[in-house]
Amino acid sequence: MPMIDIKNVSKWYGQFQVLTDCTTKVEKGEVVVVCGPSGSGKSTLIKVVNALEPFQKGEITVEDVKVHDPKTNLSKLRSRIGMVFQNFELFPHMKIVDNLTIGQMKVLGRPRDQAIEHGLKYLDRVGLIAQKDKYPGQLSGGQQQRVAIARALSMDPIAMLFDEPTSALDPEMINEVLDVMVELAREGMTMMCVTHEMGFAKTVASRVIFMDKGQIVEDCTKDEFFGTARSERAQQFLSKIL
Ligand code: ADP
Ligand code: MG
Repeated sequence: MPMIDIKNVSKWYGQFQVLTDCTTKVEKGEVVVVCGPSGSGKSTLIKVVNALEPFQKGEITVEDVKVHDPKTNLSKLRSRIGMVFQNFELFPHMKIVDNLTIGQMKVLGRPRDQAIEHGLKYLDRVGLIAQKDKYPGQLSGGQQQRVAIARALSMDPIAMLFDEPTSALDPEMINEVLDVMVELAREGMTMMCVTHEMGFAKTVASRVIFMDKGQIVEDCTKDEFFGTARSERAQQFLSKIL
């Protein structure tokens, strides 16, 4: 059974069709990179997976949870999938340690001391234990994004979704975030990553999905994707970003 199973999903914003008949699967432990031009529906595709956006046609199953079923408890689903956004989205008025613990306490009901111990373990893993009592604004963008990843991991997610996690960062900070993601991938985390970092894709991707105008145009291994057998649209895209 795949970890994430997306079947014939279509979605509209009013009259505008943003996703058209999207079908793909992410197996446990796979790292799938999603790329494509701006406005092609990449963010929307990952938002429908953890029910941040509704969709009108098709079926999505995450592990054994039917996202399309109106009876499903969506907040429980969201608590099991880690999500990392372009703009970090840390709580600015809370110390790093409190950013790491609030979800664990409020959503998972963990006692505070246990949540702190667990959160700091992940903060240490991303190399930022010394920053635990600072506020997000006192950290660099790269550091804030590493905290956001640690925060997501401290919820013990079954999969992680990334939406352009490095595109708001200064160039010198991109690698420190990608390094954390590569390590996570190598540890076997199931990941769906919207990114244009093709070096990351070449290093750890199991598969690459290329989207254009709301459709999945390519869904293949990274070797196929970076090889010759790919669509003209993907070739044009790659020629612009590589
Ligand atoms: P990408 O992440 O590939 O840049 P998005 O999934 O963000 O693309 O958006 C795909 C299309 O849907 C774009 O044309 C965008 O303008 C449109 N769109 C995104 N969010 C909304 C919304 N909330 N309401 C209406 N249109 C939207
Ligand atoms: Mg986007």
